[in-house]
Amino acid sequence: MMRSEPRALQLNEHGQLKHFLTLDGLSHAILTEILDRADSFLSMGEQSVKKVPLLRGKTVVNLFFENSTRTRTTFELAAKRLSADVINLNIETSATSKGESLLDTLKNLEAMQSDMFIVRHSDSGAAHFIAEHCTPNVAIINAGDGRHAHPTQAMLDMLTIRRHKGRFEGLKVAIVGDILHSRVARSQLQALTTLGVSDVRLVGPKTLVPSFFAEMGATICHDLEAGLKDVDVVVMLRLQKERMKGALLPSESEFYRLYGLTEDTLAWAKPDAIVMHPGPINRGVEISSEVADGRQSVILDQVTNGIAVRMAVLSMAMSGQLQSEDGAATGDEK
Ligand code: ASP
Repeated sequence: MMRSEPRALQLNEHGQLKHFLTLDGLSHAILTEILDRADSFLSMGEQSVKKVPLLRGKTVVNLFFENSTRTRTTFELAAKRLSADVINLNIETSATSKGESLLDTLKNLEAMQSDMFIVRHSDSGAAHFIAEHCTPNVAIINAGDGRHAHPTQAMLDMLTIRRHKGRFEGLKVAIVGDILHSRVARSQLQALTTLGVSDVRLVGPKTLVPSFFAEMGATICHDLEAGLKDVDVVVMLRLQKERMKGALLPSESEFYRLYGLTEDTLAWAKPDAIVMHPGPINRGVEISSEVADGRQSVILDQVTNGIAVRMAVLSMAMSGQLQSEDGAATGDEK
């Protein structure tokens, strides 16, 4: 079977989101709509009643085939704040771990009249595969697939940048660390480029920042000082050891010496630069505690912003499903 283009798969015939699989091919207008909606949900988070009825009567299933703390919890909170019924499928004890195929598990969940699957999987392309094989009126949201994409993480990072810097044009952004294995870096690069950031630097050793990333519109830097010089935003990434095959680094202490973000190395960036990290952070490996907890760190803002961005994406995909011809044909039966 030929794979459908992500663009054709994730947009309905009116150009609205109906799945959220990748940022590749999504327009400036759609990314801006996600950020604007998320901004309005953020102000709702400050009120005593945090719920809106946009997903009332809908069933959302969290399907995490890989570990997660922040992403799974903030997706759950987002769906609950939109008034959905939320199921967290425990893969460890589910039939998938007893040998049932992924598709069989999904068909059973479809038969329970689920409306949305939020999927994390260690295989790149897993969310896309599921979107191709599920009934078209179930919305599929990618919560991270292999090293391919983590689109809601990138959008919560964009919201954090916009709220702190007020703009994208003219910003200088450094993404530092294990770029090779990072789905976050790939999605961030797509988002930054679409939103108008022309100076994005990918910083790290040659083994973790290969030259082919330059084709995606970034500058490659193997020297931390050159990479951080005058940047407005520093994004630190962890070493993704679970995805590393073979020895790509001499040692963690050598990595920290050359690429760690400390008060001294952060001084190469602009004085008002913000420091971001998608988590989990490894103190003393890629970032010092002083910086992680310091005045320039916005790492916990990213977590708060994640709920609002996920509310925006879930509500947009659900409304795109209802307005698509496939969804409209079957939507009433659910
Ligand atoms: N939490 C992010 C992810 O799921 C980053 C990481 O794990 O290092 O990709």
